[in-house]
Amino acid sequence: MPNSWISERAMAIDSSGIRKVFDLAARLKNPINMAIGQAHFPVPEAVQEACIDAIRSGKNTYSVTQGAPVLREKLQARVDAEYGHSDRKVFVTSGTSGGLVLAMWALINPGDEVILFDPAFVMYDALVKLVGGKTVWVDTYPDFRVDVDKVRAAITPRTKMILLNTPANPTGAVAGENETRELAELAAERNIALLSDEIYSAFCYEQPVVSAARFNDRTIVVDGFSKSHALTGWRVGFAHGPAEVIEAMVKLQQYSFVCAPQPAQWACAVAMDVDVSGHIADYRRKRDLMLAGLSDCYEITKPGGSFYMFPKAPRGSGTEFVSRAIENDLLIIPGGIFSQRDTHFRLAYAAEDSVLERGIDVLRKLARA
Ligand code: PMP
Repeated sequence: MPNSWISERAMAIDSSGIRKVFDLAARLKNPINMAIGQAHFPVPEAVQEACIDAIRSGKNTYSVTQGAPVLREKLQARVDAEYGHSDRKVFVTSGTSGGLVLAMWALINPGDEVILFDPAFVMYDALVKLVGGKTVWVDTYPDFRVDVDKVRAAITPRTKMILLNTPANPTGAVAGENETRELAELAAERNIALLSDEIYSAFCYEQPVVSAARFNDRTIVVDGFSKSHALTGWRVGFAHGPAEVIEAMVKLQQYSFVCAPQPAQWACAVAMDVDVSGHIADYRRKRDLMLAGLSDCYEITKPGGSFYMFPKAPRGSGTEFVSRAIENDLLIIPGGIFSQRDTHFRLAYAAEDSVLERGIDVLRKLARA
């Protein structure tokens, strides 16, 4: 196939770093896999049953684009109760990724600047590139806190969006209420769209996350069921924000994703009433187990949420460190995938304790080597 077929936008994106890790992984016989970004518990039984029931009772067609009423109306009631904004509308997306794509399409013109916090979830910078935008990085090392003064300094007349992710991938950082309020107020004052990715909101171990939408009623929130109910393959998320923005996103969904899978939507309506707090408590314990095993030999900012931590490589670059880890059967992700710096690595602790214990042993050995 002629290379000239490939669009500039496709060529502008490089996913080779992460693919390399997964290619290496495929060759390992008994890997200690701490690279996967998804919860490891089974989909709750009631949610599985609801999906099977939906399939068997013929709910296999398209739903309306904005989402099957069974789910959309339940989400709208929850959003209304939580925020009480007269203009806040919700719709169902194809995973949280779908919401992120639609928000970029709906809001970013070529040349617009998007402020991202470094390090950030890999998809963000790629999506900004896909819509012809320009990423402006705001560094958050070493403690991964949002410094609103740095954001203020990064704003230019072309700044269109600030994208906040809390709890965060890859660091596990949870933005504090004060910093979230200041950021939300800054965005409102400067008429900049604030996009808040809250996909890990269920995974908070110290205190619940406070949404920027509490302080700025024009905040656009993307969220979903992939992580909270361990159903990344089902592709159900949701987005809420000012009606005008949501209508633009729904219009674009109609001509792209069409709708989220309908049986999964019925099941997610049931998922909204399923208590996952037992799993969250278990992940908190796993976080503490990791910290207890590693804190004396790695520089780690204690993560308040998600199921990741982002330690500093003891020496050399993050990439070099990850190569040594993989030689020892431990799969982790180099920090450079998420960041302008290549100094750290991401550990995902959504795994059985036996995996975590093996991982800790290898990491302790590598820190001494
Ligand atoms: N946002 C963040 C921060 C994520 O880590 C992920 C998945 N790794 C997503 C969005 C996408 O999630 P989904 O499976 O719902 O598309």
